[in-house]
Amino acid sequence: MKENLEVIFWGVRGSYPAPGKDTLRYGGNTSCIEIRAGEESIIFDAGTGIIALGREIAKRAAQHGKAMKVSLFLSHLHHDHIQGFPFFVPAFIPSADIRIFGPASSDEVLVQVLENNQSPHIFPVSLNEMAATKTIRAIREREQVVVMAEDAEIREAGSRVSEDAALIRVHHSYAHPGGVNIYKLEWHGKSIIYATDTEGYEGIDRRLGTFAHGADLLIHDAQYTQEHYLGNRPGASSTQGYGHSTIEMACEMAKEAGVGKLVLFHHDPGYNDESIAKNEVHAQRIFNNTFAAREGMHLLLRDDQKEGAWQFEKERADSIVERM
Ligand SMILES: [Zn+2]
Ligand SMILES: [Zn+2]
Repeated sequence: MKENLEVIFWGVRGSYPAPGKDTLRYGGNTSCIEIRAGEESIIFDAGTGIIALGREIAKRAAQHGKAMKVSLFLSHLHHDHIQGFPFFVPAFIPSADIRIFGPASSDEVLVQVLENNQSPHIFPVSLNEMAATKTIRAIREREQVVVMAEDAEIREAGSRVSEDAALIRVHHSYAHPGGVNIYKLEWHGKSIIYATDTEGYEGIDRRLGTFAHGADLLIHDAQYTQEHYLGNRPGASSTQGYGHSTIEMACEMAKEAGVGKLVLFHHDPGYNDESIAKNEVHAQRIFNNTFAAREGMHLLLRDDQKEGAWQFEKERADSIVERM
């Protein structure tokens, strides 16, 4: 059990939350993914999905009588990737230790943006007033973060690490306004790429293709249909240059990088369940091993399984089990 790698989707929507009867199947919360690598728990992004995750982390810690240690990696600082943080329960608990990493020119700039997100005009509790111990660090492409035994430290990229450590590598992309960090998590020979908020290039994004090469799982921005992207969707203008990919761009990247499985992520908030399901089927015709991210979905890679042998485990809180 210790060497299983589990991915849990807490928020899969892009841009802004999309609650309502038409988004029940795929979910309406903005970006947040939790990866459990053995004993370590690593979070990507703090969209509104992190609110329910925070409650879950606090519950788990109370059950096990353990202090909370959280490693949170922000892809970038756009609102839909940080808006859940002011409601993240562990941040209010004095014994909790929260390490936040993200793209910025300096640690101070990253702190400043997160402080602004909780300035008195916007939110009643400042970042500083949140009781947990917080370490906030800017990370760059030349660095990597080693998470082991509940500690997280920044090292030079390329330095050797123990197999038991979860290693997070950084690819800084300019394919999104203001730039975005794309992360690769490696653990016991398995790898997951978290590539949200990125727009494909003509002939695919070569740097990302190299970074993602051979990953077991690629979680990739797939906000738009091609029709929408090109401005042919009735009532919608073109979204070219907004920094998000089409379904086709995500599939082409999966093919080019030779990944095991592709998850379409950062769904457009204007797309209902029916249209995402349609996009999922369309994507599977281009890259067979694809599915659309669903809030509450668990993916499990068991240690005794071969590369790419991912399984669905548990759908939401109930006991529906699907196999891939
Ligand atoms: Zn976004
Ligand atoms: Zn963004």
